[in-house]
Amino acid sequence: MSSAGVCEVAVARTFLGTLAYSIPAGLVGAVTPGVRVQVPLGGSVVVGVVDRMGLREDRERKPRLRDLRGVLDEEPVVDADLLNLSRWIADYYVAPLGAVLKAALPPGLLGGRAARGASPRARTERVLRILRELRTLTERERLFGRAKRQRQLYETLESVGGQAAVRHLTKQLGFSSAVVNGLVARQVAEIVEREVDRDPFAGPVEAEPRFALTPAQQHVVAELARLDAPGRVALLRGVTGSGKTVVYLDVLERQLARGRSGICLVPEIALTPQTVQRFRARFGDAVTVLHSGLSGGERFDAWRSLREGRKRIAIGPRSAVFAPVRNLGAIIVDEEHESSYKQSDVPRYHARSVAVMRAKMEGCLCLLGSATPALESWENARTGRYHLLELDERVTGQGLPPVELVDLQDATGREAEAEPAAGRGGLRVFSSRLRDAIAVRLERDEQTILFLNRRGYASFAECAPCGHVWSCDACSVTLTYHRRRRRLVCHHCGSTAPLPERCGECDGPAPRYTGVGTEQVERRVGELFPDASIARMDLDTTGSKWAHVEILEAFRRREVDILLGTQMIAKGLDFPHVTLVGVINADVGLHLPDFRASERTFQLLEQVAGRAGRGSEPGEVLVQTSRPRHHALSAAAAHDYVGFATRELADRGEPGYPPHRRLANLVVSGKQESRVIDAAEELSEWTRELVRDQRLGGIEVIGPAPCPIDRLRERWRWHFLVKSDRARTLGGVLRYLAERRGRPGTGLRLEIDRDPEALL
Ligand code: ADP
Ligand code: ZN
Repeated sequence: MSSAGVCEVAVARTFLGTLAYSIPAGLVGAVTPGVRVQVPLGGSVVVGVVDRMGLREDRERKPRLRDLRGVLDEEPVVDADLLNLSRWIADYYVAPLGAVLKAALPPGLLGGRAARGASPRARTERVLRILRELRTLTERERLFGRAKRQRQLYETLESVGGQAAVRHLTKQLGFSSAVVNGLVARQVAEIVEREVDRDPFAGPVEAEPRFALTPAQQHVVAELARLDAPGRVALLRGVTGSGKTVVYLDVLERQLARGRSGICLVPEIALTPQTVQRFRARFGDAVTVLHSGLSGGERFDAWRSLREGRKRIAIGPRSAVFAPVRNLGAIIVDEEHESSYKQSDVPRYHARSVAVMRAKMEGCLCLLGSATPALESWENARTGRYHLLELDERVTGQGLPPVELVDLQDATGREAEAEPAAGRGGLRVFSSRLRDAIAVRLERDEQTILFLNRRGYASFAECAPCGHVWSCDACSVTLTYHRRRRRLVCHHCGSTAPLPERCGECDGPAPRYTGVGTEQVERRVGELFPDASIARMDLDTTGSKWAHVEILEAFRRREVDILLGTQMIAKGLDFPHVTLVGVINADVGLHLPDFRASERTFQLLEQVAGRAGRGSEPGEVLVQTSRPRHHALSAAAAHDYVGFATRELADRGEPGYPPHRRLANLVVSGKQESRVIDAAEELSEWTRELVRDQRLGGIEVIGPAPCPIDRLRERWRWHFLVKSDRARTLGGVLRYLAERRGRPGTGLRLEIDRDPEALL
């Protein structure tokens, strides 16, 4: 068999590596790297992408290889650059190349039995729409009773603005048709036909006003032009409203003028309609919007238009980093600190890292922008690996709004009678300061945004009199209260402590265990302001692609007084009539058992602060907390990023978290808890031995411990961490582990998350 007669094919399956096939005589010539082929696998035929001609060096030659069955493309669907990038991702994140390619291509091209090209789709779809609003929780309880799925469906619809495509509900979100029909039968919802537009972002846009750049902006743009050495990375740190987006537009315009093209990544496109609008206004038809909420056909159209060079600017969330633009000149990553750039499923890539790598491979500029850069990026800028650019002032000359920390500790004492303790934790949802401030806005017909932190499940131990929070001595992360175990648990190293009887700091009584839930907050807002019009945005239940836009539009039209949401709604919103931003409880985020807890809290506060006072009325930001002296909170109140970063970098030096050291989170899961624990112990021990036997320096294995979310979709979860001084060593260990022990046993799963964004 000559080597021209064989090739390696990547299929979208869970195993690492590629599969070898021989090429029948009739197909020689048609098979080249990057084309899709049909290959036999087990008893069926699947679609894969040719990775390379010939066999991998390390492959043992089998006497007989199976034949390829067919070739689907005349030209590669993945060009050489993108194939290289995908190989890097597969290697770095220890993921199957086929899975990477599947993420990089529009849906339907890889995976199932893909047809050639795209098939035209119907231009109408069935939409389920709420008919009757159920305003109170009691009403819901009465109507739905034990029909839990129906209630979930109703609330999903509600959270996405009242309607969603039936297909989306059943296919993506897993509601059965029986549940859909149930809602219709109860007459709370109806099914209607709706027209679909293949480019839902098309339509008239207002022209973006052209202004002369401020001197600060001019400086940044000039620096960027000067910097145009291929593969350079620039970090633009600019406070919200400092004119970063205008800089992005300028950078891309310059690329277009040179005949090149560009990509702009945004954290979550449904939540950044304003950014999208500004791109369309500036570049008109040259822009295409890539968005996971688009239908398969829409995405395919957008993808093809870039590939063919008909569109030259792609804007979209993390997967847009794979946009097949021709002659790439610049990749911009807006809000580069956002955790949504990390994919939580295989391949667990970080779009910022991929953007940096793609820019390097294709010799173009990479521009990262944020008001609160990730510490990783900040460290890279500080040490000169990235070029640092800064915009310190708002364009309008208006200062950032004042941020006031409202001490819940105080409030608890003073307001014991004003608001009875809600729930077992005895935590109050609203201080009178925040309550009064909202009331004033309602009176003046101004708008309020309230942020809740959804991650309210992790309860921590807090001393009521002094505010001390129990944390692990070895890991300096907050200990989590486990009701079932009746112990405090460190979710990093697995050490546990008995529930304390006294506070070691102030000798106060036993701690309380706190964590405010979303439901609690929603209920309270409704009770306190029964006449106000309240809207809620919730990203976890994202359904119809336009729901967010609809809610935001209603808010813009001032049909809504109070917008309630998670930090996801903090992005890029610009509403001139919002004069109050309230953060219900900053501590929930602060005490997540995660080394990024302080950073996330600081970022959230800076970002939400940027939402207030964008119009002519000055804004005000109230942050409720029991820890007003915590550095993340005091720095946020002073709008002091550099101060925060300096302190936080020092704090992370010991016991050595990113960016000082590289990290991977290894999660073992399964339905039987004892087997999961055994496997986690065995795998972590195996890894320790590997490190010892190979005499690998600067590497450390920590745990196992239960994950902070220790049960998810009926699976128990335990994890251990691998920390390393060097990226290369870490990569080697992870790949070795995945190859030898990637399948820890029947029903058990090992997830490898390199550079994790969260350790939940
Ligand atoms: P950022 O992206 O940093 O939050 P934007 O680019 O959105 O900042 O700018 C904030 C506001 O200032 C926007 O309303 C924008 O239209 C306006 N703006 C930006 N640059 C200028 C300028 N040079 N002159 C006048 N207005 C500007
Ligand atoms: Zn610990």
